[in-house]
Amino acid sequence: MKYLVTSIVLSFLSFFGGFQTGNDYKKIHSDAIIVDAHNDVVQRILEGEDISYRTTEGHSDLPRFKESGIDVQIFSIWVPPQPAKRSYFEQANRQIDSIDSFVLRNQKQVALAKTTMDIEKFIRNGKFVVMLGMEGGHPIGDELGNLDFFYKRGIRYLTLTWNNSTSWATSARDEERDSSRSLKKGLSPLGEKVIKKMNELGMIIDVSHLGEKAFWDVIRTTTKPIIASHSCAWSLCPNRRNLKDDQIKAIAKTGGAVFINFAPFFIDSTFSRKERAMREQNKARIDSFRAAQTKNNALKDVSVEEFLQGEYIEIRPSLSKLIDHFDYVAKLVGIDYVGIGSDFDGISVTPIDMDDVTFLPNITRELLKRGYTAEDVQKILGGNFIRILKTVEVH
Ligand SMILES: [Zn+2]
Repeated sequence: MKYLVTSIVLSFLSFFGGFQTGNDYKKIHSDAIIVDAHNDVVQRILEGEDISYRTTEGHSDLPRFKESGIDVQIFSIWVPPQPAKRSYFEQANRQIDSIDSFVLRNQKQVALAKTTMDIEKFIRNGKFVVMLGMEGGHPIGDELGNLDFFYKRGIRYLTLTWNNSTSWATSARDEERDSSRSLKKGLSPLGEKVIKKMNELGMIIDVSHLGEKAFWDVIRTTTKPIIASHSCAWSLCPNRRNLKDDQIKAIAKTGGAVFINFAPFFIDSTFSRKERAMREQNKARIDSFRAAQTKNNALKDVSVEEFLQGEYIEIRPSLSKLIDHFDYVAKLVGIDYVGIGSDFDGISVTPIDMDDVTFLPNITRELLKRGYTAEDVQKILGGNFIRILKTVEVH
């Protein structure tokens, strides 16, 4: 009798969602195909770190990726916009070279996918799948031919701008900052050609970092689904990097999706204020740290964020603040239009219980707790990205 009552209670709870034993969420997580649409670990590879092995720095490396359950990781090719000895184009190529050599060195465990068929095949063979996205259109310059070139090298999405605008598309930062100046906002006629060319090639258009005017020009121009590879909901956290409700609705209408960024600045509207107060409190320490940095070159690469790591830990947002963004987008437009775009290794602070990629199962656990079904969660974890890629790629 006691057993019967317990089992009735258990099935009642599981029927109404929200009830998942520890093992259930782990199983659902490991069974799902998981795609993270945005990771910046390439920058660490460029600094000479070998992520084939477990590292003590940053958020990700091959052993930790495998532990996280991620099946497909999009590596972001991001070239700093500051003028440098090498052209943007050349720098982007060198970054792709470094990924090719990482894949080659680990070919028993890792493979570079260019199509959804590749993804299916590699996952079946137990490989960790790498795909390439490019963040910022500046390596393309004004040459449409460079889109063909980078497509052939494996780039499957292009974030049209980073914080810096290109000659053909304006970024969120520039559109916001230059309101009083004569910046011509939006997509230029060449920008429209870029969109059409990307549609034709089967390269996904990514609107994270893009200005609002340019965003609506993209919506008017594209014939295929578009994504925001690492952005959050503006209604929960007003920040120029986040998307307003009508933008999220427009993305969903194309059949695309918003991939949620884990950065505290984008998920928690109180974070910037807390950060300012914390920096104010530590002003004397920061000043002497900066002074020491200019004297000692060995310290040059340590950021203030790293230096203040202990203080940042105190003001990190909760995991539930992050889950709120998944929930918000899913409730606004539906479960088919949201996914993960962590920005790991591109952000210096993360939410509590999301310290690095290995904490990813916590997302599955929290979504199940909020009543999402296993099927819903599978879509968020990776199904939605695969569907979009399948629709955009040219067969
Ligand atoms: Zn970014």
